[in-house]
Amino acid sequence: MWNIAGSGVAGSYLYGRLKNSGFDVRIFDPKVENFYIPCGFATNENLIKPFLDNLNIGFDQICEASGTPVEIVGNNFEPTEARNFGLCTINKMKMEQLMVGDSVIHSKCPGPTDDPVVDATGISRFYLPPAVGDKKMYAMEKVCSTSDHKNFYFYFFPKGRGYFWSFPLKGGYHIGAGGIDLEEVRSYLNKYESERILSRKIRMKPIMKDITSRNVIGVGESIGYISPLLGEGIVPALESAEALFQCIAKTDDLIEISELYLLKIRKRMDEFNRISGLVENMQSEKAIALSNILSARLALNEMKKFGFGISFRKILSHFL
Ligand SMILES: Cc1cc2nc3c(=O)[nH]c(=O)nc-3n(C[C@H](O)[C@H](O)[C@H](O)COP(=O)(O)OP(=O)(O)OC[C@H]3O[C@@H](n4cnc5c(N)ncnc54)[C@H](O)[C@@H]3O)c2cc1C
Repeated sequence: MWNIAGSGVAGSYLYGRLKNSGFDVRIFDPKVENFYIPCGFATNENLIKPFLDNLNIGFDQICEASGTPVEIVGNNFEPTEARNFGLCTINKMKMEQLMVGDSVIHSKCPGPTDDPVVDATGISRFYLPPAVGDKKMYAMEKVCSTSDHKNFYFYFFPKGRGYFWSFPLKGGYHIGAGGIDLEEVRSYLNKYESERILSRKIRMKPIMKDITSRNVIGVGESIGYISPLLGEGIVPALESAEALFQCIAKTDDLIEISELYLLKIRKRMDEFNRISGLVENMQSEKAIALSNILSARLALNEMKKFGFGISFRKILSHFL
């Protein structure tokens, strides 16, 4: 019996994949139904669709805003309209609900158990050992009915300290900021009136050690499988859950599953690690090094993966 702890993006997707393929699986989450976990809901339409297809979910069922222009403001460059490569907003909670139906058991995972447990508990990382050198940033978001920015809007703070965003939804906006300095994060949001204010920390560095431990395997943000540049974690959570699903579908042996899974996610974890190094260098002002220029290319790719593109020259002038 597979036990999935956490019915966020990664856990819900993995549950749907396993259940539809005939596996014996349960999913646990103590949160109350429709609990609003902070998330901008922005993702890349082109990259999320194949995962939705795997569970027969139509993009239209969850789409909030698509095809909207993207405006970027950064350090050392003027406001720029970026190319939209698929940036959209989705209703993340509805997507998770479509993936799991009413199967979530509203409690923690019962333990101790010898059955395999998937730690999909996001920032909590509840079932894996505590991470050494875990790097987190503050993130705060308001759900607003109006915004100064009708389109997607990003303002990147100087020296890699974080960013402010305003993302369009069907009937309003997600306006938020994430960064290393809580006061700076708050200062960008003070002026906005909102229906809700939500906040939590966000993991900004992959956790390369203890991705698996005994009978527990981590997916999504619990192992830091999230872009350290943009805090983009929806598609990465789905990628890691799909990687684990494919390994489970291949063999019954838990050790083999863990080994195959580590191999599958290693390349992307290494990329996250390099980008996290670039962000750390910017924050500590250790600027121009060849490795940073190479990582700046990775940063450009991260933006494209999220769904927008600006020129490499602008990236360099911002980051270096
Ligand atoms: C303010 C903010 C804005 C963000 N905006 C975006 C964005 O616009 N686009 C994007 O791609 N990413 C965004 N992210 C990141 C993204 O939301 C996460 O990285 C992604 O949801 C991680 O998915 P996950 O499944 O790993 O964890 P989550 O989706 O966080 O789910 C974890 C689940 O585990 C449950 N849980 C916790 N403890 C236990 C336990 N002991 N037992 C069982 N269940 C437990 C929680 O209740 C939760 O449901 C944002 C994050 C923040 C904080």
